[in-house]
Amino acid sequence: MAAIDIDHLVKEYPNGFRGVNDVSLQIADGEFVILVGPSGCGKSTLLRMIVGLEDITAGELRIGGQRVNEKAPRDRNLSMVFQNYALYPHLSVRENIAFPLRLKKGVPEREIQQRVDEAAGLLELGELLERKPAQLSGGQRQRVAMGRAIVRQADAFLFDEPLSNLDAKLRGQMRSEISRMQRRLGTTTVYVTHDQTEAMTLGDRVAVLRKGVLQQVASPRELYEQP
Ligand code: ADP
Ligand code: ADP
Repeated sequence: MAAIDIDHLVKEYPNGFRGVNDVSLQIADGEFVILVGPSGCGKSTLLRMIVGLEDITAGELRIGGQRVNEKAPRDRNLSMVFQNYALYPHLSVRENIAFPLRLKKGVPEREIQQRVDEAAGLLELGELLERKPAQLSGGQRQRVAMGRAIVRQADAFLFDEPLSNLDAKLRGQMRSEISRMQRRLGTTTVYVTHDQTEAMTLGDRVAVLRKGVLQQVASPRELYEQP
């Protein structure tokens, strides 16, 4: 059974335009899938449909075997990391990471602190927990945003160009961290990017979208290294 089963999904806008046009893709448990394609091809829309921020016009979306088309985002148990990782400026790093657990209600304080410490350890944020976002570099802020995403122990991570606002050196560093983190946690991941290096190095499979249509799904090797 696929962890995320995208079954003939369609997103049609009121003007009749199909941003996502009959896309099917089965993502295995623990798999890391990269979504690539030119600007406007429907990558963000597909990701937002999976996470529940965009209505599904037709088709079926199953997560862990369960149909979730009508489920609210908070009932899907997925974690999304956005390009402009909005952190809460008045909260410390510790409280920014803890935030999703506090929203859940009923998670004991001891467990919250334990999970925050685990996430911080994995992302090497241990020394920074009492700082405010303004006292962090761009890369450190992005790591806090990831900490906030992984602390919930979601069924899947969804990334929407999380590194595009970082400089080349930081991007390289974060690439390795994302790769290490995903392997360690083994969490199913869908990752949107237009960076070819990310597509080649991070994913188990690369899915290529064009004008809302899925053109090709292949391993990075098959896609980029063949003549
Ligand atoms: P990507 O993330 O690949 O850049 P998007 O998913 O953001 O692409 O957008 C997919 C397509 O849907 C784009 O061509 C965009 O112009 C179109 N689109 C987005 N919102 C609407 C809308 N409300 N009405 C019509 N077309 C839209
Ligand atoms: P992003 O760059 O983050 O994908 P966009 O600039 O594509 O965001 O879209 C911003 C907003 O404009 C969204 O709410 C989207 O639905 C809407 N939008 C995008 N393209 C169109 C379009 N062709 N017609 C109407 N609304 C659109």
